[in-house]
Amino acid sequence: MIPWENANVHVSAHALHYGSGVFEGIRAYETERGPAVFRLDSHLARLQTSAAAHAMDIPYSTEELTEAICQLIRDNGFTACYIRPLCFYCSGSLNVDPSRCPLEVTILAWPWASYLSAGGKEAGIRVTVSPWIKFQSKMMPSTAKASGQYINSILAVHDAVLRGYDEAILLDNHGNLAEGSAENIFLIHDGLIRTNDLRHSILLGVTRDSIITIARDLGYSVEVAELHLEDLLSADEAFLVGTAAEVTPVREVDGVKIGNGGRGPIAAKIQETFFAATSGNSARYDHWLHYVDPK
Ligand code: PMP
Repeated sequence: MIPWENANVHVSAHALHYGSGVFEGIRAYETERGPAVFRLDSHLARLQTSAAAHAMDIPYSTEELTEAICQLIRDNGFTACYIRPLCFYCSGSLNVDPSRCPLEVTILAWPWASYLSAGGKEAGIRVTVSPWIKFQSKMMPSTAKASGQYINSILAVHDAVLRGYDEAILLDNHGNLAEGSAENIFLIHDGLIRTNDLRHSILLGVTRDSIITIARDLGYSVEVAELHLEDLLSADEAFLVGTAAEVTPVREVDGVKIGNGGRGPIAAKIQETFFAATSGNSARYDHWLHYVDPK
């Protein structure tokens, strides 16, 4: 355990120069049984997959990482927080090849309420289609969550924010929808819910997976399909999902109103079920919660 202000690295750290790291974004939620980490196993499994895609050998087991995360939450006394495990190449050499750099593993945690605009989860957000396309999965493994690849997301979201939007939507190299800078996308037409998959260079989100399950359990049909920009513009409802963004409706795309111009009824229902699951108020999804101090 290191106090926030002392958790420093040297300016020669390889990852600082080249983005040579893999990481996770996880949330712990407040429940009646104390803080609970949402889908911790899935996040740590993806961390291992991301590391393997970059030939990194994480020197800790999933059990050790699980215990470290729980201890971090306990020691900070958090009821709810965001958790960021990061495995990165530290100082050793600034050759692009990281072989001579030690691999460091750190875990940060801090309270992080709203990620996208305040009130966005209720009112919906305004997005723009990015002039930057999502990198193609043969350029870098898009299913890995690696630090350097976020330069692509940074270009897109920073451009969007500078132009007055809340978030960017990136198209893939075929001009189909890919995803937001840090969220997957869902569209609804006539009650049918659709989302895309790894063929469109997306990160396979843990929230995406949870939302597919929740939507089907609520009785909706969910199709995994190629999505076009016209599908977004003509959608009755659209929403973005991710650990940080949770479930956030899209109310406008480049000035075009989506559906009723706010949160649609299906998005509202899915949001409600999602937050029941994260807050420990749904027996059906209780297995998605890792209670920090099981009683
Ligand atoms: N796509 C990208 C590019 C992301 O950064 C994230 C956030 N991790 C997501 C999708 C959503 O993934 P998850 O639901 O696992 O947080």
